[in-house]
Amino acid sequence: MNSFLHDSPARAHAFDLSASSHELDALGSWRDRPRVQQPTWPDAESLGQVFSSLRSSPPLVFAGEVDVLRHRLAAAARGEAFLLQGGDCAETFAESGANQIRNKIRTILQMAAVLTYGASVPVVKMGRMAGQFAKPRSADTETRDGVTLPTYRGDAVNGFEFTEASRLPDPERLWRMYTTSAQTLNLMRAFTSGGFADLREVHAWNQGFIAGPGYDRYEELARQIDKAIRFMSAIGADFEALKVVEFYSSHEALLLDYEEALSRIDSRTGEIYGCSGHFLWIGERTRQLDGAHVEFMSRIRNPIGVKLGPEASVEDALRLIDKLDPEREPGRLTFVTRMGAGRIRERLPRLVEGVRDAGAQVTWVTDPMHGNTITSSNGYKTRRFEDILDEVVGFFEVHRAAGTVPGGLHMELTGDDVTEVLGGTGEIDEAGLARRYETLVDPRLNHQQSLELAFLVAEMLGK
Ligand code: PEP
Ligand code: MN
Repeated sequence: MNSFLHDSPARAHAFDLSASSHELDALGSWRDRPRVQQPTWPDAESLGQVFSSLRSSPPLVFAGEVDVLRHRLAAAARGEAFLLQGGDCAETFAESGANQIRNKIRTILQMAAVLTYGASVPVVKMGRMAGQFAKPRSADTETRDGVTLPTYRGDAVNGFEFTEASRLPDPERLWRMYTTSAQTLNLMRAFTSGGFADLREVHAWNQGFIAGPGYDRYEELARQIDKAIRFMSAIGADFEALKVVEFYSSHEALLLDYEEALSRIDSRTGEIYGCSGHFLWIGERTRQLDGAHVEFMSRIRNPIGVKLGPEASVEDALRLIDKLDPEREPGRLTFVTRMGAGRIRERLPRLVEGVRDAGAQVTWVTDPMHGNTITSSNGYKTRRFEDILDEVVGFFEVHRAAGTVPGGLHMELTGDDVTEVLGGTGEIDEAGLARRYETLVDPRLNHQQSLELAFLVAEMLGK
């Protein structure tokens, strides 16, 4: 049975699908604001049909689940839980098969088991999954061999293939985003409630990882976890929490028409929820205070995130809090900082101190990926494992010094053995990137690098 369903009776409710459009009117206020990073759809008629289908389709997530997540994130803000959010930079329709989804979920569960031990608090598990199909881009067009075409904006908008037909935005893709998200969520719910997520199983996988060449430095930590699990078995502990986990979905809420079409009124409270995913975030490129994205997100009840890069000021942070979390509700707002390893120790302190001194509470999460992107000498967009780790270390240092709480990790990762990030014990070098470089946008940690990072962070947390 799904863990969401037997936690409280409030979960078993339905959205009021008959709610008049009038009740959702407030949501349309973003249309009066400057909007960036939105595709130019060529075909108004099929666009209208897709939106009308989306508006009358079932929600992908439910208000009760979203409310539970808000409480979990509030716990992370207080240091009583730790968020692990991970998945592809950009999901694709082609890579949304059962195996890839299972591998990603397994990777996140494996990391979470190690982090739970290290942090001694529950780990909130969240996929950058079941909706992460649209990408902001730094340029509108791309030129190859003298041919200029629109950039790839994610499978929700256009195709990656460099042809005119493929790069043309196609509204049908929005429908496919919905159905692929539904399929992915269905597997996520099944895998995390049907025995696959059993902690003892997950621990056995981690022991398999340690047995690989070069990973023996993590043996001590794995041995301690093993001892803890044996102790639980010996005393006959066999409770539901060992077998069933909560697993949440999240994505960047980029395509506001889609997000609006999937918003629903909760029949319990009359409030509006974004029902395309549990946790939605605003990217670094779309967080303008008076812009359409911030306006839209201010109207929905979900826990939301905002990415903050190295240029973000205390003033930006405080004004975002005023706009997005005027009630100062615990768990409502997460700041996902992505400063870069070289800058985090200089840029993050004033932000966390400014927010702390203003008496506001947000959940602070580190994204050690997006500030550390480089191009290898052989032309791959990549990142160094050591930079990623160093940004995480810097994140903990800054929060410890400020007396604030490091609440979680936001990672780009996959469960497959790709070669997109340099380094790690597997020692992927520049030439090695060519072996299996599959991402269409940003480089992801592979399965081994993800686990290795979890062990290193767990060691840090345990100190
Ligand atoms: C991303 O998360 O893939 C992304 C584009 O991040 P950011 O908005 O932080 O640049
Ligand atoms: Mn990315």
